Amino acid sequence: MILEANRVSQYFTQGETRIEALKDVTFQIKKKENLSIVGPSGSGKTTLLSLLAGLDRPSEGEIKINGTSLGELSEQELTMFRGQNIGIVFQQFHLMPHLTALENVSLPLEIAGVDQVKERAREFLHFVGLEQRINHFPNQLSGGENQRVAIARASVLRPQLLLADEPSGNLDTQTGSRIMDLLFQMAQDSEMTLVLVTHDLNLAKRCDKELHLVGGKVQ
Ligand code: ADP
Ligand code: MG
Repeated sequence: MILEANRVSQYFTQGETRIEALKDVTFQIKKKENLSIVGPSGSGKTTLLSLLAGLDRPSEGEIKINGTSLGELSEQELTMFRGQNIGIVFQQFHLMPHLTALENVSLPLEIAGVDQVKERAREFLHFVGLEQRINHFPNQLSGGENQRVAIARASVLRPQLLLADEPSGNLDTQTGSRIMDLLFQMAQDSEMTLVLVTHDLNLAKRCDKELHLVGGKVQ
């Protein structure tokens, strides 16, 4: 199994009230399977993705990536594990504003200490169709172009898991659908397992497995 969630719950306390953002979520996916996480706004999709990414720790339950239980890693180990195994694409891109497209995509390679950083970054920017924009800053690029940079950045180390949280949510329909095609293509070509959060049921059907969340519970 590339990814396992075993009875995962996440609670937030807001003053007197306890919010059950996720309750007893269990699922598994094998290598080369894709998963979509679907559900209405507030159903816990982003909360679940943050836990799968190791950006947050669950209140209860266990998440395993390729046999490694995230709960057993220290903060430092978790950060390293994330860098090596997980790529994340956010709805709001989250690019570094003071870095060019090439520098944004180079960053994970530099942190990982691999060689031929610029060549690899350029190859991925070429793949996402931005070879003419490599020296542009995020504010000089359109939303769709920024998301392409973000997809290249998340994929450039060929992580086992590519997590995407409503990656077309900030884009017009046509641009968004091109971004989705690109994401599926990238995952397939680089042999990454894609976990896609979306509220688009048609898009969800393109994945091998669908996880439907309602009020933090699997339906
Ligand atoms: P979705 O991504 O499906 O729209 P979220 O995972 O963002 O849903 O949120 C699920 C529920 O958890 C919501 O009710 C939200 O208000 C609550 N929630 C999420 N993050 C926090 C937080 N940090 N503190 C308190 N409540 C939160
Ligand atoms: Mg969300």
